[in-house]
Amino acid sequence: MTHVTVIGAGTMGNGIAHVFAMHGHQVVLVDVNEGALGRGMATITKNLDRMVRKEKISEQDKASTLERLTHTTDLADGVRKAELVVEAATERIDLKKKIFTDLDKYAPDTAILATNTSSISITQIAAVTNRPEQVIGMHFMNPVPVMKLVEVIRGYATSDAVTRQIMEKSKALGKVPVEVNDYPGFISNRILMPMINEAIISLHEGVAGVEEIDTVMKLGMAHPMGPLQLADFIGLDVCLSIMHVLHEGFGNPKYAPCPILVNMVTAGRLGVKSGEGFYQYTAGSKESVVAPSFSAR
Ligand code: NAD
Repeated sequence: MTHVTVIGAGTMGNGIAHVFAMHGHQVVLVDVNEGALGRGMATITKNLDRMVRKEKISEQDKASTLERLTHTTDLADGVRKAELVVEAATERIDLKKKIFTDLDKYAPDTAILATNTSSISITQIAAVTNRPEQVIGMHFMNPVPVMKLVEVIRGYATSDAVTRQIMEKSKALGKVPVEVNDYPGFISNRILMPMINEAIISLHEGVAGVEEIDTVMKLGMAHPMGPLQLADFIGLDVCLSIMHVLHEGFGNPKYAPCPILVNMVTAGRLGVKSGEGFYQYTAGSKESVVAPSFSAR
């Protein structure tokens, strides 16, 4: 499996493209937005530069990784040779269904169609294709080049052979795959997102401020990052859509998203990617948190 197409050049897509290209795959990065492709490629270059500085890879590795990467806004052309497609576009069910309908139409019949969705049902996505046994969840963690886990999610119809191939492929990328079944939020976000939502509810109720909540969870629970900073890092729009999936999927009010989260997303405060969430950011870097910019209101 050498030809891989990644759909979506945002936070996750560029990281996924980076990792596949670094491990010898010919990668096509596809996005509807030309600007996103430019930013995605710039991020990959910046992250490869950092790896060179840290002596994790050589200048030659960086150059050959970049040579294996191409990009396009034309999905049909981008998947023409794909053996594996990893979709990492915006977390919206209607959008994923449209993309998978197109992938089914344009990718070779033998291609495996994977999605990096954080929470949307793999079974539902697979159902729009004529190859549901070849559709699977390949859920990378952010930042993709650094994080070891790949949550491999079997849809209702995903075949054993395809699951095995994706488990093996994940290992070949230097990752640790874990197989789980297709239920709302899978394992990672079924547990993580209610924790983040509860942190936002605590802020909303005035139990403590942003820094205090994050410090309790960092120092008290040995989390590398507090839940509010993590929410900024993931993207508040992504967090909100995952809460909607859990809420609708389980029909349980305990998964209702906190109104502050809804308001912030509506106002375009999406975290690191928009420059402001629970903290303010410059140049998209986590080190550049300058001050808590939010109090309950
Ligand atoms: P993002 O908003 O950073 O990027 C999404 C990209 O998809 C954008 O560049 C957008 O232009 C592009 N896009 C939209 N419609 C498209 C289409 N029809 N064809 C091609 N590209 C299209 O989002 P993200 O954070 O990278 O999330 C992508 C996926 O990964 C989502 O399903 C999300 O749930 C999942 N995910 C996110 C994280 C995270 O920490 N952000 C972690 C794991 C999984």
